[in-house]
Amino acid sequence: MVVTRCPDTRWAWVEIDHSALRRNVKAYKSLLKGKTRMLCVVKADAYGHGAVSCARTMRNAGADAFAVATVDEGVELREAGIAEPIVILSQPPAKSVRTIVEYRLEPAVYDADFALALGEAAVSRGTVARYHFAIDTGMTRIGVPWNEAREARRVFDFHRGLECAGTFTHFATADVPNDWDWELAYKHFSEAVASIRDAGMSVGIVHCDNTPGTVLHPNAHRDMVRVGIGLYGLQPARVCERYLPLDPVMSVRARLTRVAEPPVGSGVSYGLTWRVPKDGVQVGTVPIGYADGLSRTLSGRMDVLVDGQRLHQVGRICMDQFMIASDMRPLLSRPAQPELHEGDVVTVIGRDGDEEISMDEMAELRGTINYEVACNFGMRLDKINC
Ligand SMILES: *Cc1c(COP(=O)(O)O)cnc(C)c1O
Repeated sequence: MVVTRCPDTRWAWVEIDHSALRRNVKAYKSLLKGKTRMLCVVKADAYGHGAVSCARTMRNAGADAFAVATVDEGVELREAGIAEPIVILSQPPAKSVRTIVEYRLEPAVYDADFALALGEAAVSRGTVARYHFAIDTGMTRIGVPWNEAREARRVFDFHRGLECAGTFTHFATADVPNDWDWELAYKHFSEAVASIRDAGMSVGIVHCDNTPGTVLHPNAHRDMVRVGIGLYGLQPARVCERYLPLDPVMSVRARLTRVAEPPVGSGVSYGLTWRVPKDGVQVGTVPIGYADGLSRTLSGRMDVLVDGQRLHQVGRICMDQFMIASDMRPLLSRPAQPELHEGDVVTVIGRDGDEEISMDEMAELRGTINYEVACNFGMRLDKINC
């Protein structure tokens, strides 16, 4: 079934299925024992799905905390009335400490200068800043190397403006089952946490599992899991499908803005790289382009759905539009394709009847991962929450 609502000012939109989002949050929550908390990752505008509206749905479905990538993303959530803890997953510039304190954001911290600036900002506001101590267990991205963690942590342990809300790491191979690199990284993390604690310092909430880790490594849930991609109904890796089926949350649709039946040999789009091969072929215009997140590298290589049937995209994808072709004459090998009409709904991502174009299908064509495809569609298209 295709929803036919569409925004007032554009013929293209993204649909966000909040009941699917709610089911996915609950599915992950059902994997957690007792007091384990669930942090929902809503960075990059909730992977393109709309951070504020998704955070509200997640909160109603049982989210205990949220995480973002930047200070601005955290401010947006606070200003929208999200009251739960908001973690910033990397360490922002020291110039942002006043904003961090004012909005009670909880940044990742691994650098003494930043920690000092944060603590001073808190003291001058008469408050205490909560932070999450980041440990590098082998990804070589952020944090203090695990074997230096205790000494690094000691440096800012005594600041009266600072409170350690959590200690965390992020694994490079959480999506690989039975992986030795993961085992070693987890061992190093556990040792680092224990040594900080043994030295008499607080570690706060201990957390390390992301989406694949939450299903593949339940022994590492610790005090909190940080789930991102799975909430949006997208699997971080094929192997995770077996553990937890999910419902896709985002669909991308548009209405045909024009239908032509050009003579044989007519070219389509910039460079005329595709030409109408015979009579009876319609060319429909879809008002979505690469500025909406549809990669131009898909030109001539992707399908869309109309009336529950697959049609080929033809010619180059433009900034704001692309074209599709429908061959209305049946062949021996193939029934006629649907007749196109202006206003017909075109599905770029999502279901229509028995057919589906998934984020994974598009990601594979693009040579990337579903994470990137979803983020990209958040760029400019209006979101319709259903
Ligand atoms: C993005 C991110 C997550 C969430 O990852 P998913 O694979 O989407 O679950 C968790 N932790 C950190 C540090 C991240 O950067």
